[in-house]
Amino acid sequence: MSGLLAKRILEIPPSPTLSVNAKAAELKAQGIDVLSFAVGEPDFDTPVHIRDAAKKALDDGQTRYTPVPGTPELRKAIAEKFKNDNGLEYSIDQITVNCGGKHSFYNLCQAILDPGDEVIVPAPYWVSYPPMVMLAEGKPIIVPTTQENQFKPTRADLEAAITSKTKALVLNSPSNPTGSVFSSAELDMVADLARQHDFLIISDDIYEMIMYDGLTFDTIAGRPGMIDRTLVLNGVSKTYAMTGWRIGYMAGPEEIIKGVNKIQSQSTSNPNSIAQAATIAGLRGPQDFIGRMLVQFKKRRDYVLERLNKIDGVSCHTPGGAFYVFPKVDGVYGGKAGDLEITGSVPLAEYLLSGANIAIVPGAAFGDDACIRISYATALETIEEGLNRLEKALKDLS
Ligand code: GLU
Repeated sequence: MSGLLAKRILEIPPSPTLSVNAKAAELKAQGIDVLSFAVGEPDFDTPVHIRDAAKKALDDGQTRYTPVPGTPELRKAIAEKFKNDNGLEYSIDQITVNCGGKHSFYNLCQAILDPGDEVIVPAPYWVSYPPMVMLAEGKPIIVPTTQENQFKPTRADLEAAITSKTKALVLNSPSNPTGSVFSSAELDMVADLARQHDFLIISDDIYEMIMYDGLTFDTIAGRPGMIDRTLVLNGVSKTYAMTGWRIGYMAGPEEIIKGVNKIQSQSTSNPNSIAQAATIAGLRGPQDFIGRMLVQFKKRRDYVLERLNKIDGVSCHTPGGAFYVFPKVDGVYGGKAGDLEITGSVPLAEYLLSGANIAIVPGAAFGDDACIRISYATALETIEEGLNRLEKALKDLS
């Protein structure tokens, strides 16, 4: 039988970050010494007090359905987080908890997009934004940016992309994959455009706590009139090293949150009850873990930058946050490794995996073929060895 799959599924690729990671794991399982810099996932363990809260929830019998948008206690803890960290006031009916940050974004697209609605996505973008928009039959409008501009769109770039069909714009600061951070003035500019042209902002703040060099997080939702047109997405995966627990959350206008809850009630129901209890402990418990993690990330970032910028044909801007570098590597394009010509980031990634046993994600997956993404959320010794291999592999190109 042919035509088994729906057209919208055929139009999207599987997640490249997850598939490169799976490929690296497969090679490792075959005994090949692959070093993976593919997936963005803190290499630290979830703090003990969070794990203890999960064990207690289990022993206390918190093993049944919870309300679809999450327990009132968890939503209260999230409301407190928004107030204390971001100065944003939300009632618990304006907050929903989902199965990871990715699920928040997915549900939101399903809730707000009609066929043909446009969503502006500045590139480089996180790999799953455009496919998730497309799965909701929306149209991603990609706005390219440049390394010279620290990969951030200018007002003119965004204005050129706005049409009468613009429903929303995706903001991700600090950014995955570039680590770029929007300045206050840039957030003012984006807010101004949203008010003027009447569209929503989807602010994915998942890297809020992972910032360097004295930079502090600023939220677009706090600008005049923006609380009513901003969906703030966040989660515990990155802040508390809880990727596998799958807890993301979102706050915004109650009407939209209700729409998201309707979708969730018809699909996944509530997120995992044990993980919800653990999340309360994360949000309300000691926060010193984050500072300790940041010290390690910063050391690694500085090391990676220093090494990369010394390699011929490679240049890397300094990311202000997240745990990725996004070096421009098109200086080595045109080189050859045997029969393989390095025509772009995809063959380069293939060459690095097969020829040097290092897994990175090609920039093309993020909408910028001149670059590659390296996640430095891994031990410094692994990073050092990985960079040795990268440097040698690029030198070996003829
Ligand atoms: N956000 C992470 C990354 O970009 C997680 C993997 C994913 O879900 O794409 O690597």
